[in-house]
Amino acid sequence: MAKRDFYEVLGLEKNASDKDIKKAYKRLAMKYHPDRNQEKKDEAEVKFKEIKEAYEILSDDQKRAAYDQYGHAAFEQGGMGGGGGGFGGGGADFSDIFGDVFGDIFGGGRRQQRPSRGSDLQYNMELTLEEAVRGVTKEIRIPTLESCDVCHGSGAKPGTSADTCSTCHGMGQVHMRQGFFSVQQPCPTCHGRGKVIKEPCNKCHGHGRIERYKTLSVKIPAGVDTGDRVRLSGEGEAGENGAPAGDLFVQVHVLPHNIFERDGNNLHCEVPINFTIAALGGEIEVPTLDGRVKLKIPAETQTGKIFRMKGKGVKSVRGGLQGDLMCHTVVETPVKLNEKQKELLKEFGDSLGGTSGEKNSPRSKSFLDGVKKFFDDLTNK
Ligand SMILES: [Zn+2]
Ligand SMILES: [Zn+2]
Repeated sequence: MAKRDFYEVLGLEKNASDKDIKKAYKRLAMKYHPDRNQEKKDEAEVKFKEIKEAYEILSDDQKRAAYDQYGHAAFEQGGMGGGGGGFGGGGADFSDIFGDVFGDIFGGGRRQQRPSRGSDLQYNMELTLEEAVRGVTKEIRIPTLESCDVCHGSGAKPGTSADTCSTCHGMGQVHMRQGFFSVQQPCPTCHGRGKVIKEPCNKCHGHGRIERYKTLSVKIPAGVDTGDRVRLSGEGEAGENGAPAGDLFVQVHVLPHNIFERDGNNLHCEVPINFTIAALGGEIEVPTLDGRVKLKIPAETQTGKIFRMKGKGVKSVRGGLQGDLMCHTVVETPVKLNEKQKELLKEFGDSLGGTSGEKNSPRSKSFLDGVKKFFDDLTNK
């Protein structure tokens, strides 16, 4: 698609003044800003980029002169190297440009580097399963950069103030000539801040922030699990020069438990039962997070049988769903038997009529039948 004439894009004559250009740009940028054109977002975005590009060229004396002389060809090849310099292709940064527009309207005047928001911090918190299930309030100590209390974040000695940078005149950016157009770069004197501090604050040495440990009380809601994060808004690093602070994210890690294993809202535990109870049935005690609970074991219970104890799991932190406790039974073979017990068992074993006792051990019977068929099939092939 052929590019439209930049003057035409902004609806201007070739002899338009800087003021006309700015005015036209503001009007059109606001009109076509994608946030204000939700129904025709794509169309508006294309339009918006076109307007932005035209403005970037025509608002810069050198670029405008190059454009007047060479047209679009002035910006099409060489020199810029892959869209690094900020005009032509590339994605328009809408928030940035919108800030410019409003900054200008509300008397900001020159383009300035906005102070940056403080970084988000992450704190890894280990919790026991009980703490995670019930919720807990914990105190944590975190290193953080806070706004300096002496200069209140300005970085300048009290009674003095930061001066507008004389290299970039407060713009934070300088234009470096490259061929017949110029490239914007962060100002080397003020590193893009637009301000220079002549007399830095003694405490923070001009940074406006100081490192400090702070103690926070963190309330962990009941039901959290490994991977959940609790966000403490504004408790991250202080912003530079009075900008808002970042957030603190407390990352939960639940430690392994001796008895319970968690799976979502359900808890699992292994419950050994002796083989007499397994055979005859009976009552045993099982642990839950709320204490011991009696569990009825029916007769003829096998290893691997799972008993579900309704509502004895974890209450979800989201939605409050209550999980269950799953008791996985393991029938325990008796050990360290005395002679008398061995005699009794032998006698008992004889009464079963061997390992393949059809009646008393249906599983062994069907297993052995299966094995027999397997070998029969092999030999018959
Ligand atoms: Zn200070
Ligand atoms: Zn500067």
